[in-house]
Amino acid sequence: MRHIAIIGSGPAGYYTAEAAIKAFGDDVEIDIIDRLPVPYGLIRFGVAPDHQSIKNVARRFEATALNDNVHFCGNISVGKDISIEELQQLYDAVVLATGAPNDRPLDIPNSDLSGVIGSAAFVGWYNGHPDFADLAPPLSGKHVAIIGNGNVALDVARILAKTREEFATSDITENALLALTNSNVESITLLGRRGPHQIAMTPKELAELGHLERATPIVDPHDLPEPILDSMLEPGIRKSVTHLRNFAQIAATQDSHKPVRIAFDFYASPVKFGGDGKVESLTIERTKLDSDLRSIGTGETYDIPCDLAISCIGYRTPPIDNVPYEHGRGRFASNDGRILPGLYCVGWARRGPSGTIGTNRPDGFAIVERMIEDNIGTSRKTGRAGLNSLMANRKVEIVTFRDWKNIDKLEVEHARQGAPREKITNAEEMIAARKG
Ligand code: NAP
Repeated sequence: MRHIAIIGSGPAGYYTAEAAIKAFGDDVEIDIIDRLPVPYGLIRFGVAPDHQSIKNVARRFEATALNDNVHFCGNISVGKDISIEELQQLYDAVVLATGAPNDRPLDIPNSDLSGVIGSAAFVGWYNGHPDFADLAPPLSGKHVAIIGNGNVALDVARILAKTREEFATSDITENALLALTNSNVESITLLGRRGPHQIAMTPKELAELGHLERATPIVDPHDLPEPILDSMLEPGIRKSVTHLRNFAQIAATQDSHKPVRIAFDFYASPVKFGGDGKVESLTIERTKLDSDLRSIGTGETYDIPCDLAISCIGYRTPPIDNVPYEHGRGRFASNDGRILPGLYCVGWARRGPSGTIGTNRPDGFAIVERMIEDNIGTSRKTGRAGLNSLMANRKVEIVTFRDWKNIDKLEVEHARQGAPREKITNAEEMIAARKG
């Protein structure tokens, strides 16, 4: 029997488990360990609450979770309740599928002012992550600056702009929904340090901004390159740029009378925040592109009012003691997923925060291929039995998949009308709810 521990129950973790079951059949026991008492990581806490169709992939993960040889072991914090070395003594292979939950820091002066927050916290807040459920972002001001031109920036802008009705079928927490419904936000500025051709926004997600009830996307036509140059773009980005061109037309229509403006400010790099105790303004430097399409400052600066700033500039994997780590890239140091003998990484923890949920599937299958090449397993390691006894000694209550199903049932029972669930946002309450 092979014993595999997968750390992290998000997409990379479950796809790896699915691949290991396919490869090893009944000759494997897989424990999916998570710090939180509930599974699915990014699916539950990262994917936007109004993107329920993406969240449906959890059903596929549930099929894997219900396999007799797969166990969810929630409420175990690796590094605190158990070390990597201890896990390696218990399991033939340990796979770090810990994602990239930490913000890449926005390293500019005054980013410690209140009202300057990272997307991990903001997204975690509206998605009910226990670490951020009490964030209470300041929403009483009119002006929000969002830094970054990727899909997370789009998620954040859309969530800030939607009406209560537009969240009807979402699983946004009631707490966040109330705060957003009472917000005074009128102007959302999306800052891109490069131009429209360099955005990292996918077309479907960008198009959504054009269909919001009370918000209009604004693009300055002067920022758009000559249309002929679009033909050189990769098809996805070309479609996204077509949406930007359509948004540039909106100013001429009555849509522009909607009360909330989502303005794209391209070639705009944040320089410093201003404010007394809390953020009040943001100084921006106009940029241009060099021959390698990198942004360089022009020296020209301007200020915008800013009551809330959310940096959406990418994520990092938290390091773990004694595990080789690439500080520059914010991910584990590995050779195609191999970190040390018997220690692997997969998904964002291996390659950094890029790609879609589905990208993690081939990643999961590839890491199991590595394990086969490395001939892991069939040693005398104790796997789950050893984990259970160590955790019992340390008084750590393991939350099982059956426990999760009880939590799930309670959340579904407490849903607003039309919504899929009302999430429990506190780890102790989750643990209390687990016995049904
Ligand atoms: P991302 O796609 O890497 O975008 C990060 C953005 O931040 C880029 O526009 C980047 O600009 C900018 N940036 C980085 N450092 C900056 C700095 N110091 N100052 C100003 N701007 C800076 O990251 P993400 O939006 O966090 O998304 C992560 C992954 O999740 C992506 O693969 C994304 O597609 C995926 N995702 C998908 C969905 C969906 O499909 N619905 C939703 C959310 C996220 P440069 O290009 O100039 O570096």
